[in-house]
Amino acid sequence: MSRLFMPVKVYEGEDVVINEASTWTKLGRKALIVTGKHSAKANGSLDDVIKALDLNEIPYIIFDKVEENPSVETIMDAVAFAKDEKVEFVVAIGGGSPLDASKSIALMLKHLDWDASNLFVANEDDSHLPLCLIPTTCGTGSEVTGVSVLTRHDLRTKQSISYKIFADIALLDAKYLISLSPKNLKNTAMDAFCHLVESYINSGASVYSRNICMEGFNSFRQILAVLKDERKADMKDYFTLLRTSTYAGMAIAQAGTTIPHGLSYAFTYRLGVEHGKACGYFLAGYLKMACKKWTCNTPEISNQIYDDFKASDEFKTLGEYEVNRILNAAGIKDIPEFEELFIKLCGDVNESESLDTVLNDTVDAVFNNKAKLAMVPFELTREDLVEIAYNMKIEGE
Ligand code: NAP
Ligand code: ZN
Repeated sequence: MSRLFMPVKVYEGEDVVINEASTWTKLGRKALIVTGKHSAKANGSLDDVIKALDLNEIPYIIFDKVEENPSVETIMDAVAFAKDEKVEFVVAIGGGSPLDASKSIALMLKHLDWDASNLFVANEDDSHLPLCLIPTTCGTGSEVTGVSVLTRHDLRTKQSISYKIFADIALLDAKYLISLSPKNLKNTAMDAFCHLVESYINSGASVYSRNICMEGFNSFRQILAVLKDERKADMKDYFTLLRTSTYAGMAIAQAGTTIPHGLSYAFTYRLGVEHGKACGYFLAGYLKMACKKWTCNTPEISNQIYDDFKASDEFKTLGEYEVNRILNAAGIKDIPEFEELFIKLCGDVNESESLDTVLNDTVDAVFNNKAKLAMVPFELTREDLVEIAYNMKIEGE
């Protein structure tokens, strides 16, 4: 079966926050703006949002305390701050952290009798305040996914809430990316690349989601030279970076993420590794495993691609054929070249003393997560997971 579900209205363009003000300010009569501590003030996005709200005479309050990898405690602080303010919709500005936080906040503001534990208990009622999301990094695609990932200090890891919360409107203006540090730009672009690969090599993939991925790989290729510092980014490149991330978000909204993301959460929590870098660290291992073990045509690749694979003598498995095809579409020759790219973009993490302990623990956590394993289109043993997890450590030695 092939399916596509994308409920978010996406508007893209320079000054879209102002130009589409009459559209998104209709989401309610009072807004809660959710953002991080500094960047939205510095890059002009908060000013644009306030200007648009003022123009349309919509009052607002601002919660600007969302930290990187937002915690459940921050969600509850925001709810306490806004609950008596009669806000009717939420506008979030920033990277994945404020965007993800805003989804949980919009859910909790609709359920004032809930406590934090309700976030992680599946329930029929996913009603939430309307949401408008404005991304200012180029990695998470959160503006078009239903996912809200929170830090759980009680479990010493990160976890998605049990609800799918999609925005009503996403506003994409790449001018906000100009202020991103090179490190954040590269780490978040690596996150987008992981989303593309993980949603492509995924048992929930469909012809639709794979075609979105292929567009994403093509657009990643166009900004590869910028990411490798071979040329300076212009405004067109910033839009391509943002669009790559949104394509990747649309793809994970269909299929989800798999092993690299699953392994990354404890890695980020315990070693402080940025999200995109933490996922990218495990990606080459996942690609190598796909080459070895992805042999069955499940979920079904389009007939043409499968016929082409069978007609070619060059590749032993469907996995080898597909990994080669998607890397090439992204402008990357093979897995070793991807490993070099990862180090160039994100740097090394092998120096941490507790690396082995964290890798072992995160392997156990993923191995016990049957839902995550089921998203992989081939069977994985614990030994396979160890091989994926340790790939870069061995490569780095
Ligand atoms: P982030 O944690 O939102 O932000 C990282 C840093 O970048 C912060 O210091 C932030 O500053 C700064 N920043 C943001 N935009 C900037 C700009 N335009 N110029 C300068 N600095 C800027 O980073 P992220 O990688 O985008 O998000 C990571 C989070 O998203 C993780 O929690 C991850 O789990 C989640 N995620 C969600 C999904 C999903 O489907 N929902 C997918 C992947 C990842 P301020 O704090 O001052 O704003
Ligand atoms: Zn991610």
